[in-house]
Amino acid sequence: MYTNIFNYIDEIEDEIINIRRDFHKYPETAWNEYRTASLIARTLDDLGFEIYLGKDVIDEGSRMGLPTKQVMKAEYNRALNQGADRRFIESLEGGFTGVVAELELNKEGINLGFRFDIDAIPIDESKSDEHFPYKEEFCSFNEGIMHSCGHDAHASIGIGIAKALLNIKDELKNIKKIKFIFQPAEEGVRGAKSMVEKGIIDDLDYLFASHIGMIDSGSLVCGCNGFLSSTKIDARFKGESAHAGGNPNEGKNALMGACNASLNIMSIPRHKDGVTRINVGKIESGSTRNAIPKDAFMMIETRGQTNKVNNYVKDKVINILRSTALMYDLDLDIDIVGEAINCNSNSDLSQIIYDLANEIGLFENVIKEDNKVKGSEDFTYMLNRMEERNKKSIYMIIGSNIKGGHHNSKFDIYEEDMIKAIKLYLAIIYKMDENIMSKNFDMKEILQK
Ligand SMILES: [Zn+2]
Repeated sequence: MYTNIFNYIDEIEDEIINIRRDFHKYPETAWNEYRTASLIARTLDDLGFEIYLGKDVIDEGSRMGLPTKQVMKAEYNRALNQGADRRFIESLEGGFTGVVAELELNKEGINLGFRFDIDAIPIDESKSDEHFPYKEEFCSFNEGIMHSCGHDAHASIGIGIAKALLNIKDELKNIKKIKFIFQPAEEGVRGAKSMVEKGIIDDLDYLFASHIGMIDSGSLVCGCNGFLSSTKIDARFKGESAHAGGNPNEGKNALMGACNASLNIMSIPRHKDGVTRINVGKIESGSTRNAIPKDAFMMIETRGQTNKVNNYVKDKVINILRSTALMYDLDLDIDIVGEAINCNSNSDLSQIIYDLANEIGLFENVIKEDNKVKGSEDFTYMLNRMEERNKKSIYMIIGSNIKGGHHNSKFDIYEEDMIKAIKLYLAIIYKMDENIMSKNFDMKEILQK
């Protein structure tokens, strides 16, 4: 059953690798993915998909951690100069860089969704000869920005699945619609919520997502559990400047506020109900030696094994910031710039993928569930919405022998693993189409429809 489609996917391997290398060359950070998103829209439009983008797929008020207007404008122009598609880029302007592509297959049936994140990270890419993208000349052209988490591969996998799907679409009898969701701003967990709030997954019966890397090539985790709930907080203290020698009593020292808040934040007690994390990652303050610093900026993040213990740490952080402002007579602005919740993959779906992966034999090491994932991922908003609607959703890990670790300047994936991922997704499409007819799978749920 899978031979023909797997052969076709082998034939498009070079094309997929070229697409990935092109995205890798032009990495774009959260909410600035104008080039990437416009080219994805063009490619899927050319393939015959129905395209929705910009404000049609992103809820304006639910976006978190937006760049400034000036940065967005400059990035928009940069994207135009780097070959963004003019037909689609206008709809993305102002940080609405999401794309949804749909293909109707039948009048009746289930709706499947696949989500791919597309953003890069503010990290300088390695220019060492041992770094494969540098050696092969597809290293980042955008100074200080790099695809060092593999989302260039995720976007390319999405395009590869879409291409391959066209080859089998007439064989599918029980799937009504397949939806491809290209999500901006996963880094800093800022983007998924805005797509969920827009309702773009509310017509789906099954939703799948995956991450490349993290474990060795040939390994597959079918269902991830245990994502940490997380909140990203920016805090700004505003005080009063004064001469530190002449009239120090007239100053209001924002730097002292930030330093004291930082020490207190790092000493928030652990919680008995679960693992927590806390970090003050950045403090910026002061201008010169003899002036009382009037501004201080802090970047803070909290994480927790459950939403409850993360909220415990977050509330304590906010208390400390407010009390410190009071203590030093400072004004305070607190911005929640990113948030992910804790949610788990559906275990029925993990079992189906586990059996399927063993059947197709692409992976030597198939792991049904990993319950100890210690990162954060805003796909959890989508998992949670699907669970609320009694629908099924899953997050998989597709192993790849990465170099240098995620978010590292020497990060690189093993490109053949993208091809494995595309094959797995095509097998999933077949399986979902077939499973819907079998008596032991969700029959009650289907009859209720
Ligand atoms: Zn990532």
